[in-house]
Amino acid sequence: MSIAPGVQRLLAPNASMMTGPGTNTWLLGEPPVAVLDPGPAIASHVEAILAAAPRLETIFVTHTHPDHSPAAAVLQARTGARLVGRAPPADGRQDDTFVPDVVPSRDEIFHAGELRLRAIDTPGHASNHVCWLLEGAACLFSGDHILEGVTPVIPIPDGDLGAYLEALTRLKSYPLRAIAPGHGRVIPDAYGEIDRVIAHRLHREAKIVAALEDLREATLEELLVPVYADVPRDRHMLARLTLEAHLIKLERDGRAMRDGTRWHAV
Ligand SMILES: [Zn+2]
Repeated sequence: MSIAPGVQRLLAPNASMMTGPGTNTWLLGEPPVAVLDPGPAIASHVEAILAAAPRLETIFVTHTHPDHSPAAAVLQARTGARLVGRAPPADGRQDDTFVPDVVPSRDEIFHAGELRLRAIDTPGHASNHVCWLLEGAACLFSGDHILEGVTPVIPIPDGDLGAYLEALTRLKSYPLRAIAPGHGRVIPDAYGEIDRVIAHRLHREAKIVAALEDLREATLEELLVPVYADVPRDRHMLARLTLEAHLIKLERDGRAMRDGTRWHAV
């Protein structure tokens, strides 16, 4: 699938509840000289990348969750390509084989053949998350910051909901047309989608505040049912992570307090 000249998608064979149809690996350049989010180190996927991009120079990653970056070190060993991204944080949920050669600073421009990519730091889903803006085409490679059809989990302690919302708002200051997410199809209405994600999070936050005022005090488990009644039960373990991220943000905002495992509204 092609979304702009010099951009092709390779779908990694790692479909699951967490990864949807699988991780989107993006090949960049004509011919491809860079790959963005090489994905898991599954042999057939690595070979498919090498077949499509035999002259690989640069490997960009959005973040170092195990479905996004492990193929980077394998590809580097085979090709000598440089790794561009932020080092994995130490939360036990990361691909520790990713050792960057270049750590991008905010708004730094990188080249992939004729293409220009701007690094935009977007902590929230992961503290080391970077979105990559394809200049000219105004297409944002959003990793797990913005997904198609679902909102990303904010897994604390590395995840941070306040930072997530700040990064979403900041993204709107860039020229954007489409969003090419780490999972799912390309999203054509970039600003509309960003507004939908922000509205969804603020709606969830309002439900949490209402539930805390209603229950006077509650544990995470007691809050899950009223706050996530619209979410299937088999997703409540994931919802619990984001619920905790919401509560930590509310605590920081001076709107909730915790006493041991119990939370109450301020
Ligand atoms: Zn992720």
